Amino acid sequence: MTTTIESPSFASSETSLPRYRMFIDGQWVDTADQYVLVSPATEEPIATAARGGIEHADAAVAAARRTFEQGVWRDLPPARRAAVLEAAADALEARSQELATTATREGGAPLYLSLGLNAITPISNLRYFAEQARAYRFEAPGPLVGGIAHSGVVRREAIGVCAAIVPWNFPLALAVWKIGPALAAGNSVVLKTDEKTPIGALELAREFQAAGLPDGVFNVVTGDGETVGAHLATHPDVRKIGFTGSSEVGKKVAAAAATSNLKRVTLELGGKSPNIVLDDADMRTAVDGAIWAFLMHAGQACESGTRLLLPRAIHDRFVARLVERLGDVRIGDPLDPATTLGPLISAEQRDRVLRYVELARQEGATVACGGRVPPGVDAGYWVEPTVLTDVTNDMRVAREEIFGPVLCVLRYDTVDEAIAIANDSDFGLSAGVWSASVDAALDVARRLEAGSVWINDFHMANENYAFGGFKQSGMGRELGANALDAYTEPKSVQVSLEPDLRKRAYGLALPTPAPDWD
Ligand code: NAD
Repeated sequence: MTTTIESPSFASSETSLPRYRMFIDGQWVDTADQYVLVSPATEEPIATAARGGIEHADAAVAAARRTFEQGVWRDLPPARRAAVLEAAADALEARSQELATTATREGGAPLYLSLGLNAITPISNLRYFAEQARAYRFEAPGPLVGGIAHSGVVRREAIGVCAAIVPWNFPLALAVWKIGPALAAGNSVVLKTDEKTPIGALELAREFQAAGLPDGVFNVVTGDGETVGAHLATHPDVRKIGFTGSSEVGKKVAAAAATSNLKRVTLELGGKSPNIVLDDADMRTAVDGAIWAFLMHAGQACESGTRLLLPRAIHDRFVARLVERLGDVRIGDPLDPATTLGPLISAEQRDRVLRYVELARQEGATVACGGRVPPGVDAGYWVEPTVLTDVTNDMRVAREEIFGPVLCVLRYDTVDEAIAIANDSDFGLSAGVWSASVDAALDVARRLEAGSVWINDFHMANENYAFGGFKQSGMGRELGANALDAYTEPKSVQVSLEPDLRKRAYGLALPTPAPDWD
């Protein structure tokens, strides 16, 4: 296994660190108190960012509310809104490489992943939402009622001030999944970035402003979850909250949203996704697919395939091959294009992952490979790719989200048993099925409790398909053809064309006609 941590190609001294400010009501706002953003690969500081507080959240919500009430964005023709989203996408595209490099320095994902998931994907997503703004039926003729002359329209109206709260793992893409449909539909938005990864969203704000988005329509507050995040979740002027993060915090957000003002809520939460290999699968492809499923971004993806379900008959050969292939994983400087595995986000996360490996041993699992910090590493937050075998589905390591480069391997005897194990989870975000027979795989897919099922691949989330979870993996969906529905309120408007419509439609006994009004 390659375990050398190559020297980082970037070096920065604290005195020359870039300083990022918040974006509120069209202004760049600084604070004396600053976050120090640290490279997870080297632990070197790379930038500082404002640490916003409740007063900043309030100012951002007030600006968003004002612009919504004035209609400066909401009342524009959808095509004008679409043009602003597209102009911002074009500007970001011209800066893709820079965005990817910054995201890698900030969040530790290897450069190829940052380019895909922190640049190309959010840019493509923004264009997708712009297209949806053009095509969306903001107002559609209503149906005839009982075949009786009757006129009506069904409108979809922007909700108002929408708050978005995102985690650190794919910070720009997950922000765009909320901001894109919210703005396309005419809402005003307050985004709270994660404490560790605010830069991409601030660059997006810069490009929105340059593209002509009116001041106050989009605001970015950089602040702590327990203060700024919790405040937005209870704020009486916020009418919708889109949250991505852990199931634990998601429940708090949902509770706060319900008890404050019954905010509309979309939650994208954690996972413990099964990846089922059927006995007729192409084993070479399935082995590499299993690695891609659990190891992408060092396992720090909500949808990671972290429970690998293998037919008992092929288990030993499959695991041997898996461990051998993991020896080719290139761990190192995430800015090196050849690197395939980067660090974890923080020392806390590394220590948490190592504690889970210890727990696995105590629970009776076998550490087939990894389970430790790569030898010789003295900076950064690294854990080797780790495979746990002899795992049973009742173990905590099989039930709880570890969020690191750790794969649990489970055996099964029949397909029914594999499906039962797969579904025996509090989560239901995604699943993989590997088979030479698409029909057999589709049959399994129909029986799985998961928001996304991928056949002979993994991590196939894309804008054309709704994404989200069953059970405690979330509530509602993002992306997909109906993405704007989550950021609009339906309003039914009906006009009576006949004075006794109700009587004829429903057979109601109406009183005799009222005397003339004089
Ligand atoms: P987290 O829940 O700790 O934090 C997510 C965001 O919530 C951060 O911005 C944080 O500051 C904020 N926050 C924290 N406490 C809050 C509170 N009380 N009120 C409001 N906001 C609060 O999650 P994390 O550790 O940053 O990210 C990892 C988690 O996110 C994992 O569980 C992962 O599965 C999940 N995730 C889910 C998806 C998905 O689409 N389903 C995508 C990515 C990550």
